Amino acid sequence: MPPPRPAPTRSRILVSAVAGLGLLGALLWGIWRQPAPAAPETVLLAGETMGTTFQVTVVVPIASADVLESLRAGVEAELASVDGTLSHYRETSDIGRINSGEGTGWTAVAAETVEVLELARGISERSGGAFDVTVAPLVGLWGFHHKQPLDAEPDPEQIAALGKDIGYSLLEMDAARPAVRKARAGVQIDLSAIAKGYGVDRVTGAIEGQGHDRYLVEVGGEVRVRGRNAAGVPWRIGIERPVDEGRDVFRALSLIDAAMATSGDYRSFYELAGRRVSHTIDPRTARPVEHGLASVTVVHDRCAEADGWATALMVLGPDEGPEIAEREGLAALFLTRNDDGSFDERETSRFAERIFEPKETAP
Ligand code: FAD
Repeated sequence: MPPPRPAPTRSRILVSAVAGLGLLGALLWGIWRQPAPAAPETVLLAGETMGTTFQVTVVVPIASADVLESLRAGVEAELASVDGTLSHYRETSDIGRINSGEGTGWTAVAAETVEVLELARGISERSGGAFDVTVAPLVGLWGFHHKQPLDAEPDPEQIAALGKDIGYSLLEMDAARPAVRKARAGVQIDLSAIAKGYGVDRVTGAIEGQGHDRYLVEVGGEVRVRGRNAAGVPWRIGIERPVDEGRDVFRALSLIDAAMATSGDYRSFYELAGRRVSHTIDPRTARPVEHGLASVTVVHDRCAEADGWATALMVLGPDEGPEIAEREGLAALFLTRNDDGSFDERETSRFAERIFEPKETAP
């Protein structure tokens, strides 16, 4: 397992009094100081966390040194707490201690760990087990924890042997203690599909706790916005075109007071015997998903739910996914890959309600 990345590097801080910064806009890397600006100022914080990157944009009346330092400290403290508690890459984290635990006794954990595991269980139950944080051994078996593509399929016996330790019902949480216990010693937890979104929610809480209510927070592609940007318009967010090379926007949309997360098969995958093997595992088959869905984007009030449901719907696929998403009242967009490299779009009825712009699919 790769060594955990160091705690978040000290974020880089940029301040710009130029309005209109959006995730899609050209980020202004200069530092401007205007005379007492009539327009608000935009603070941009960026750095690394949870094996990926983060970017926080906050609109403030005046970006004083105190405001900057307080925002930086608050953002970094939340991200460090989530990484230090929920990372399966860290032996000393709650998840690391649960995973290395040989027995089936209670492991004392932070309240946030029980909170995230309870949230994950809810998505597991409502997705028919498609979402399941105990898939960790299968994620490892298929080469994704060590980021080492396989050159042959795992033995069916290997897969079957791991199957006994896979199942969200093998975890028991007690919020009163707080503690977690495994019904089988071999159970392992991987929160990659929900904890980045949870980290976004925690950072927004820190920003609002400092009295700011116009921001965009992004961790590893999971996003949450509130209010409007410095130009007074909704934040603009891009849904990536799910292509293997390069970064391109498939659809630009505007959000106010919402979170958005995307899961897909185009960033973490390899080819095996001519077939795409991606990091999204179907716990019901113990295999990487094998359908043509390239990505699922979910818009929700909270980023942890958007993150978890994006993975659940990615597992469920292009037919079952939209059906469950409608039943759950989720705002979701499904992109299915065609043989000619184009993508078919399918959105749930709730998706349009959360979007402020007609779709403008990039040419
Ligand atoms: P998503 O598409 O949101 O989810 C896919 C991931 O979820 C898979 O990679 C797998 O891990 C898991 N998964 C697969 N199938 C299912 C399923 N059916 N149900 C539930 N989960 C499933 N990476 C590093 O390289 N180094 C680090 O130090 C590191 N630290 C991390 C710390 C934390 C707290 C977290 C949450 C993740 C960390 N990661 C680290 C992993 C990295 O941040 C990403 O989470 C990972 O690369 C997948 O991101 P994604 O958004 O593409 O995943």
